[in-house]
This record gives sequence, structure tokens and C-alpha cells, in this order.
Amino acid sequence: MSAVVFTLDLEDHRPDESAELRYPAVTDDLLDDLEEWGVVGTVFVVGDVVRDQPDLVARVAARGHELGLHGATHTPLPDVGAETFRTVTAEAMDRLAQTVQTDIKGFRAPIFSLVPDSSWAPEILSELGFVYSSSVLPARNPLYGWPGAPTEPFRWPSGLIEIPSPTFGVGPATVPLLGGVYLRVAPAPLIRWAARRAPAHAWLYSHPYDFDPDEKRWLLPEVGRFGSRVMWWGREGMKQRVKSIVADTERRLIDVVDELGDIPTFQPEPAA
Ligand SMILES: [Zn+2]
Repeated sequence: MSAVVFTLDLEDHRPDESAELRYPAVTDDLLDDLEEWGVVGTVFVVGDVVRDQPDLVARVAARGHELGLHGATHTPLPDVGAETFRTVTAEAMDRLAQTVQTDIKGFRAPIFSLVPDSSWAPEILSELGFVYSSSVLPARNPLYGWPGAPTEPFRWPSGLIEIPSPTFGVGPATVPLLGGVYLRVAPAPLIRWAARRAPAHAWLYSHPYDFDPDEKRWLLPEVGRFGSRVMWWGREGMKQRVKSIVADTERRLIDVVDELGDIPTFQPEPAA
């Protein structure tokens, strides 16, 4: 079994500011648990969170986790556009680096939104000094995904390294079983199977809300009434599931990058 890397996407997911602010306390609790489990991983922070909760971000870094950027805002890349992306990402990267007093090397696009429509992003990320990205879901997905992208680590033409989300075939579907809602709601034996056959570069992803069963529900218009209910399922059991996969793993994504030998370059098809 390979050592799956723990990653957290640290974001303020509330529909508006009137909803209770829970993610900072939930994250602090999780930091305690991770320490108890002997886990050090990579935390991707949204620029807005760095601005609003700099002390929380500093506490994440103080526990030894690698900090990466999860977008300046939690906006899918195709909606940001190349020119705005360059400006706001540079600012957010700088703010994060100042907050944690270390260079920022990793980027994760919100909602796996590095897709053919945003294939301009890797070149900009390289120019800004990012070393790697973990932004691609190489499969079809209800929201974002890049079917046909490599499933193993690769380089973009700019030299930026991509560590794609591990995916698993489940019946006719290919899904990122080791993360978020999939990890919470899939049957336990399926999760154990996925963890056993995870590739060497595999990372698990999570969000503060995945660990918060007590959060009041609201409707997420983009996934409908049923989808919204699912977004609250399995939160009680999430910590146990995560612990069972990553306990005693002190491995950050930058460590995975450092272990890579020669990897192929992926040249995306020009947009139609
Ligand atoms: Zn996110």
C-alpha cells in the first residue's frame, strides 16, 4: 500500500456571510486530530481565507503542513479568465507567502477547474513561480473534469508539474473516490479497496465542512435539492475514514514532486 498524501482545501464555503462562521474552529480541531494521528500533509488555502483568517493560516503552517494556493477566490478558472487570473493569483500568492514566511510552490484550482477551457493557466502559474499543480481530474465529472488527461504525474508545456487526482473505476464511472463527498458516502469496503490500490502519487482531498456534521443545511442551487442533502451525508464518519487512510503519513505533495523521476509532457489539444 502506498502512502496517500493528506490534503485539505481550506475555503469559506458559506453561501453568504449571514451563515454561521464554522470553518476556522473546525480546522483547528482537525489540526489537533492530524497531529494526534501523526499526519503532515498539504493545505491549499483560498486567497480570501488568507486575508480573513491569517492567524488560522499561520497555525496550519506552524503544525508543519505545506501551504499551497487554492485560487485567489473560489471561482472556477474558466470564469476568472487569463488576464484577471494572472493579477489576482500573483497578489494572493504573495499574501500567502508573507503570512507563512515561506515560498509557495503548489496550486490547486477550485473544483478541479483546470480543464480544456482554462488550459492557459499552467503557463501563468509557471511564470508566477509555482512548481506544481494538483488541479486536474482526468475523468468525466458532473462539474469539472478533463477526460483524456494523463492519470499519472506529468509536465505541462511550461514545465509546471501536474499531480492529477487519483481516479478509480466504479462500474461504468471513473471517480475520485479518495476525496470529499465520494470519500464520505461510498461504502467502506470500496474506500478500503481504493486506498489499497492507490498509486504512488495519490492524494486524498477534503474540506473543513467534510468534518462538520453539525453545520446547518442550506440549498446548493448548482446541485439541486437531493445533491444538497448528499453534501451533508457521512460527515460524522469522515474523520475515521481519513485517519484509516493517512495515519502516520508525513508526506506533503512537494515531497511527491521531489520523488518524481522523468515524467512525460502533456500537450493539450488546441481549443476548438
Ligand atoms: Zn475548493
